[in-house]
Amino acid sequence: MEREFSAGGVVLRKMRGSWFLAVIEPHMDRPKKPPTGRGARPKTAAAIIALPKGTIDQGEKPDQTALREVTEETGVRAELVGKLVDIKYVYVRNWGDGARVFKIVSFYLAIYRSGRLGNIAPEMRIEVQRAFWLPLKAAPAALSYTGERKVALLAIDYVKAHPEMEAHATNTAH
Ligand code: ATP
Repeated sequence: MEREFSAGGVVLRKMRGSWFLAVIEPHMDRPKKPPTGRGARPKTAAAIIALPKGTIDQGEKPDQTALREVTEETGVRAELVGKLVDIKYVYVRNWGDGARVFKIVSFYLAIYRSGRLGNIAPEMRIEVQRAFWLPLKAAPAALSYTGERKVALLAIDYVKAHPEMEAHATNTAH
């Protein structure tokens, strides 16, 4: 089976005393991969809520990919904290060759440093409909994919086990 390797990030930010993470609503109808007939997502489907991630480029380390994709897809800059976990899933391409793909996505924990969420390049708007701050404690239920829910639970465990994270966070009023 074909394989794909991606990396993504959980970007945490402390606001008004609680932790939030940056999530995106990916555009499901991408011009380059138009859904066709069977398996196409109906227009009325609830929005997907997902973590920022993307393909690991040649010569790139997964943690670099994670931070790059975070910035490209959400508009914010973040500092790496550490690796959380690899998640795995199989999907069937609904465009081109229709191949089954085994995908591994490495997720990293990062902390917000600068930038405004949603401040992304025009070409990124094709992939990302919206980016927003989601309360961390709501993330395991709000994220659309089981694997990413697991990632959020690990991020929650991490902040509980590392109270010093507070000191690294830029506490902002809004
Ligand atoms: P990338 O964001 O890594 O560049 P992509 O956007 O091309 O990749 P995916 O996000 O992996 O591809 O989406 C391909 C298919 O897999 C879509 O049908 C999507 O709904 C599904 N998918 C995405 N993430 C997950 C997941 N964590 N678990 C199961 N299915 C997923």
